[in-house]
Amino acid sequence: MQNCFINLFKLQEFHVENSELKGKTMLITVRPKTKGVRCRDCGRYISTVNRYLAPKKVKHMFWQGNMVVLLVKTRAFFCWQCQKKDKRRHITVDRLKSIPLKKNYSLVYADQIMRGLGSTSFKTQQELAESSFSTIQCILNDKIDPFIGVWPEEAVTSLGLDCHSFSGQKMLPTITDISNHKLISILPDDRRTTVEKFLEEMPEIQKENIDDVCIDMSRQYYQTIKRELPKAKIVVDAFHVIADANKRISELRTIIQKTDKVKLPRLLFDKPKEHLNANDRVALNEINKAYPELLALWQFKEEIRRIYKIPNSTLAKMSFDSMIKKMKLSEYQSVQQWLKTLIRWQNEILAYFDNFTTNGYTEGVNTKLKTIKRLSYGFRNIDNYIRKAMLAFIPISLLLSHYLT
Ligand SMILES: [Zn+2]
Repeated sequence: MQNCFINLFKLQEFHVENSELKGKTMLITVRPKTKGVRCRDCGRYISTVNRYLAPKKVKHMFWQGNMVVLLVKTRAFFCWQCQKKDKRRHITVDRLKSIPLKKNYSLVYADQIMRGLGSTSFKTQQELAESSFSTIQCILNDKIDPFIGVWPEEAVTSLGLDCHSFSGQKMLPTITDISNHKLISILPDDRRTTVEKFLEEMPEIQKENIDDVCIDMSRQYYQTIKRELPKAKIVVDAFHVIADANKRISELRTIIQKTDKVKLPRLLFDKPKEHLNANDRVALNEINKAYPELLALWQFKEEIRRIYKIPNSTLAKMSFDSMIKKMKLSEYQSVQQWLKTLIRWQNEILAYFDNFTTNGYTEGVNTKLKTIKRLSYGFRNIDNYIRKAMLAFIPISLLLSHYLT
């Protein structure tokens, strides 16, 4: 019976002295099984009790609609050896594996809360309502640190970095494991130093594993990545290269619309060539005849799209070179400006063809994050948003206390 009780309530660490039900709260009085503790100053095992401390109330678990609260009797021990040396008192208090230091909840409770936050079953929601918001926040802060992130058990060979917007102007970097399709972290702001801190604190072993890092075409984090992950190749995301092309076409199109008072539908230029219907093609031909600079930009965009489909790295690189040569001969300023960007990013664009790494997964995460933001009550606080959002992606098993499993 005693054993059954201990297993049911996960009290392996304790001797149970008493239990009583008060309303919906089950109070269990326990004391540690250990005889002593290691002195925190000299490390010797000490078992001379200095005094018994007042029992500490610890939230322990939900059980069949009841809240199980432990009354933990702990002791303060006294070290003779240390006192002999410096004539001062050396006190060490009981340490418990299942209760974090200075916390009023146990790991069992923390795990139950995490499971509850990860699922949406009615029962757990009801249980969650009974635990205070500040305790949940405290547990979340303990379990999820955006600067540490949650690393999968498998080796991460491709890292994705792409920002998503949080409340209008604020951009938050999303960091993903492209190789295993997992979210690793969401950082609290997009400053270079923030990304730097994350990369610096990355586990050494993970740094070794990473072959490539996929980013968009901005230099903001470029040097930081080069420095922190010197072995990794930087890959510019294909989607962003095409998006940049569309942006350039759109800029020129807008200027022409204003100066010539004409209407040039954006969709005609954004659409991939193969998706254009007969009418689209006629319209596009007419426009392109009148505005050859627009035509040139559009043709080079289509050429890049074609190059991205080449499954062979050598052939792709050759085609890219020949496109660069053609662009150099172009008389248009907009082409020359674009060419500068393409040359500057040439290595990173071509690095795509080594492993065909894209930020497609990261983009997908960012889209889901938008839904999470919409569904949840606004999220004024960035830290809460980050932790709850990460919880929605990370398998709960990675967050549970390993001691208990
Ligand atoms: Zn000692």
